[in-house]
Amino acid sequence: MQANRNQQLFSAAQKHIPGGVNSPVRAFKGVGGDPVFFASAKGAYLTDAEGKKYIDYIGSWGPMIAGHAHPEIITAVQQACESGLSYGAPTAIETDMADLLCQLVPSMEMVRMVNSGTEATMTAIRLARGYTGRDKIVKFEGCYHGHADALLVKAGSGALTLGTPSSAGVPTSVAEHTITLRFNDIEAVQQCFAELGEQIAGIIVEPVAGNMNCIPPVPGFLEALRQTCDDYGSVLIFDEVMTGFRVALGGAQEKYGVTPDLTTLGKIVGGGMPVGAFGGKREVMEYIAPLGPVYQAGTLSGNPIAMAAGIATLKLIQVSGFHEQLAKQTQRLTQGLQQLANQADIALTTHQVGGMFGFFFTDTPKIEFFEQVTQCDMDRFKRFYHAMLANGIYLAPSAYEAGFVSIAHQDAEIDATLAAAEKALATL
Ligand code: PMP
Repeated sequence: MQANRNQQLFSAAQKHIPGGVNSPVRAFKGVGGDPVFFASAKGAYLTDAEGKKYIDYIGSWGPMIAGHAHPEIITAVQQACESGLSYGAPTAIETDMADLLCQLVPSMEMVRMVNSGTEATMTAIRLARGYTGRDKIVKFEGCYHGHADALLVKAGSGALTLGTPSSAGVPTSVAEHTITLRFNDIEAVQQCFAELGEQIAGIIVEPVAGNMNCIPPVPGFLEALRQTCDDYGSVLIFDEVMTGFRVALGGAQEKYGVTPDLTTLGKIVGGGMPVGAFGGKREVMEYIAPLGPVYQAGTLSGNPIAMAAGIATLKLIQVSGFHEQLAKQTQRLTQGLQQLANQADIALTTHQVGGMFGFFFTDTPKIEFFEQVTQCDMDRFKRFYHAMLANGIYLAPSAYEAGFVSIAHQDAEIDATLAAAEKALATL
């Protein structure tokens, strides 16, 4: 394969694509350098346009939990394609998907399929507003819920990496209804509701924050959100686009035993195809058109090919022991990294929740709050990132993203990653 092919592809891409990428998190703004262009993927591995192989810890930002190009998912998609790509009319497979989602995530009594996580969260907050007749929404700084106007206020992920957590182009009249509080700060939530609770339609939260690196909820945080919403008649929305089917089969709500009113899903639910979903209590969901007055629609929603990929993926992850194995391998990775950093006398803190992980170059052993993440050693992260990339390990190109492990990451892949990390840490 031709050397410099990557550079050629990146410069060609920049001619007609802003920044050469179709989603800003793919640009290497958080680490410097050019993004890598990929040609194919299989299992835990990506192969770039120059033929170099990498062990992948992004997994398309979460969906590829069964590993890339899993034969059962590919076959399901191929078979669905034979019958046509889209009808814009009901199909049986949409009911299969809805039944499966309501079975796996029992807080969802009804569910609507959409085409992305953004559509799911955007509609969930509209629904919370329509249901309560209130305008204000509470979110948490550093949490990312897609790019709808009301949610691009002090957001995480690429918005944070690019230095625009509150996007230009969002009218003040929209943003003023979004209240942003500190993730994991129970008192801040209680104070805010004591003052404005009667005006608040709902709280939207990533139950495990994954868009400001990876921060689990402190004990009692999710419970306090539930209690506060109950006290004030507000809707609790768990944005499980990232955590759904990843931190446990039933998502963070199953893992932490806290039941939201509405749940948003994405990523794994489409198995790599563009899919999102939102669902929850029947009483709330009945406000959605055509049953109720809150409008939402989609030409390609419930697309049969996407449903086939999603259902095939959800089938694979229901195998007994799947999530235990995923968590075990993820923990092997974070514990191994921690040990290597300790040996190299490099200050590092690691987090792992199910198949999600994060690592922070910091001497603060406990990372619970957004501002602690921003105080980490970003320069060290960048140098570590590029050393890992050179050694064939593909991590998220920003210190504000969680990492993802798939079931295809076996001992050999974790060991190879740790060997690369040992070398990378030595260069810091
Ligand atoms: N919510 C969360 C928690 C996410 O992590 C993301 C995307 N990373 C979204 C919503 C938006 O999903 P999408 O990119 O599919 O619009």
